[in-house]
Amino acid sequence: MPKIVLKKNRERSVLLKHPWIFSGAVDGFDDDLKNGEVVEVVSAEGKFLAMAHFFKSSIMARILAFEKTDISIDFFFNRINNALKARKSIGLPDENTSMYRLVHGEGDGLPGLIIDIFDNTASVQCHTEGMIRSADFICRALQQVDELKLISIYQKSTVKSEKVSGKFLYGSSGKITALENGIRFTVDVEHGQKTGFFIDQRENRKLLSHYTKGKKVLNLFSYSGGFSLYALKGGARKVISVDSSSAACEWNRENTVLNFENANHEIICSDVFDYLKSCNEKFDVIIVDPPAFAKQLAAVDNASIKYKSLNSSVLKLLNTGGIMFTFSCSQAISKEQFQKIIFKSAIESRAELKIIHRMSQSPDHPVSIYHPEGEYLKGLVLQVSSNEH
Ligand code: SAH
Repeated sequence: MPKIVLKKNRERSVLLKHPWIFSGAVDGFDDDLKNGEVVEVVSAEGKFLAMAHFFKSSIMARILAFEKTDISIDFFFNRINNALKARKSIGLPDENTSMYRLVHGEGDGLPGLIIDIFDNTASVQCHTEGMIRSADFICRALQQVDELKLISIYQKSTVKSEKVSGKFLYGSSGKITALENGIRFTVDVEHGQKTGFFIDQRENRKLLSHYTKGKKVLNLFSYSGGFSLYALKGGARKVISVDSSSAACEWNRENTVLNFENANHEIICSDVFDYLKSCNEKFDVIIVDPPAFAKQLAAVDNASIKYKSLNSSVLKLLNTGGIMFTFSCSQAISKEQFQKIIFKSAIESRAELKIIHRMSQSPDHPVSIYHPEGEYLKGLVLQVSSNEH
């Protein structure tokens, strides 16, 4: 078994169960080691510490197990089975919700692997070379979990160059109608963004539905209409959705028809920043759920400016007493930083803002206590008490 050897006294983070080995802690590794190979991580004294996937970069190894074990089909089966037990114990799936995240990377002891379930289809995302190489084991392990009754497994991989490639590992049904809190959504795992649907917002969408009765709602970055449909279900008087992807707008239309006979729902296919420049109406509730503006730490400063100006433009469109659901899914921006950004937006737009809820990712996206970096989604529900401009 190939090894990577740590520098003297650099095993502390592994002993504290942090799943990443940074290159600065590594003394050496076998010359012919290939990206994605399974390695043993050993201390300077030669003591076994962990099994990991190797990748020659700043995060040099991602730990799969803290004990000596074969990284086999059984290994993946056990991890996936444990993840399923954990989901079932928090009530997922149930008769109203047939889509959920089954495996959330480090949170389920499988760094680099995401598996979302949509009814009987699994959408697998491999974010590391190690997981891409393991795709066959993962596929076979998933098929062995009888309870999932899978008829299709689709794999999408994001490699380092950010190029995305996808293929069916099993079956071929890529377009599914799945349920979330009783609302029906068409999910296209092949052509959709990420795994096909943003399951991480489930609880936040549910919260939104409590605030939309009789309200005029604007959903910015609406994708396939997640927040919009909950707003309509909550009794919104009118909903406007805005997204720049024509495919997303089409799915939003399909999903609206799937759930409502005569919804007052306008779907606008446009860049949000252009829409905001020309918008001259006001709203009672606005949702702002942009894509990650900061994909790396180096991008945080520019992203912060972008979040700030976006949110201050949105605040100007809120009626007095209005409510804003605003999010950042950039891992590199902490919740404290995000709150500061919104504070600056409030100053810029001269809004009297109050935080009424703090939001995060749904509980099927668990964060290991040893890996706080796993918490990426943060959001605030804010209420405007007076707006001078
Ligand atoms: N809120 C959604 C998920 C949003 S994902 C849900 O609950 O499902 C982010 C969305 O922003 C994607 O649909 C993407 O197409 C869209 N998007 C990205 N940049 C955009 C831009 N500049 N203007 C409008 N939409 C944009």
